[in-house]
Amino acid sequence: MPPFVETMTSRERVLAALARKPVDRPPVSNPTSVATVDLMDMVDAYFPQANQDPEMNARLAATEYTELGFDSIMPYFTIIQESSALGCEMQWEGKDNWPTVRMTRPIWQGPGDVRIPRDILKHRDMVAITRSIEILREEFGNEVAIIGKTMGPWTLAYHVFGVEKFLLMSIDDPAMTMETLHKLKELSVLFGDAQIAAGADALTFPDHATGDLVSGEYYKRFLLEIHQEMAERLKAPLILHICGNTLDRLDYIAQSNMAAFHFDSKNDPAEAMAIAKGRIALVGNLNNPQTLYARGPAEVRAEVFKCMDAGVDMIAPECAIPLATKLENLLEIPRAVRAWMQQHPKNGAAKKA
Ligand SMILES: [Zn+2]
Repeated sequence: MPPFVETMTSRERVLAALARKPVDRPPVSNPTSVATVDLMDMVDAYFPQANQDPEMNARLAATEYTELGFDSIMPYFTIIQESSALGCEMQWEGKDNWPTVRMTRPIWQGPGDVRIPRDILKHRDMVAITRSIEILREEFGNEVAIIGKTMGPWTLAYHVFGVEKFLLMSIDDPAMTMETLHKLKELSVLFGDAQIAAGADALTFPDHATGDLVSGEYYKRFLLEIHQEMAERLKAPLILHICGNTLDRLDYIAQSNMAAFHFDSKNDPAEAMAIAKGRIALVGNLNNPQTLYARGPAEVRAEVFKCMDAGVDMIAPECAIPLATKLENLLEIPRAVRAWMQQHPKNGAAKKA
């Protein structure tokens, strides 16, 4: 059997997959984060500073491509850059822990408080991302996809009001909730546009209307139209990220006009593909806490194969990986994709073309 041969650059592969066009093989591309403590040591760029300083950020982000051999680079590791810039109280943590927003002390009480500072794009934690994208684009040209990230209004609302308070608002006063989301979405557009201008090829759009907290009907009622508007206004392919069980809202998500949906291992990949029906690309599904964090390359390969068998468009962990994830498990992901292609010579570009 002739060896499997790659014919596309990483960037071409990611952009084709996001457009649901033929690819030589599915790209390996995590829309959230593959930063780990091992990678931090390798390039001397650590949390939390790597989330604040553009040079350090770019050094750590580049390892996704240079060390792991993935097809994209994602410089926005966390979900807190905008919230920090808005003035939320931060817990920056250290090298081996994620920075978080202290949601017990919300900065705002209701939609009347929502104000996006005029100069917010100049805040250190916004520049950390936009400048890093420029650095990465200068360094890597067009060989690798650079994916930015802008937080959706639902997640921003959790950070500025507190999760409980915002969820209570959504029950008590749907109109006030919509007003809040419409105000916050302007920050999603502002930061997204800035990253596209800096050179991002695509944007991850996390909006944590997760299966554990809200229903599928909630997604339709509060977010579907806003997400359609985001797909229209942001001039780059968008990758929606929502954790947890999402099969009950995937039919709506498939109508969001976003390019791709980054989905959790709690959803069966074949079932998800059957619901998506080619209306939106799917990316993700490799389990983080058990498989990538706690098991070994053989188990990783089995999960990659399951996604490849199901026809998942882009192969990736389900979410930001744990910072202590072992390198050998991450290196196995692109290896497993190539091994699968070698075993299924007719199922690459030919199948999709
Ligand atoms: Zn997630």
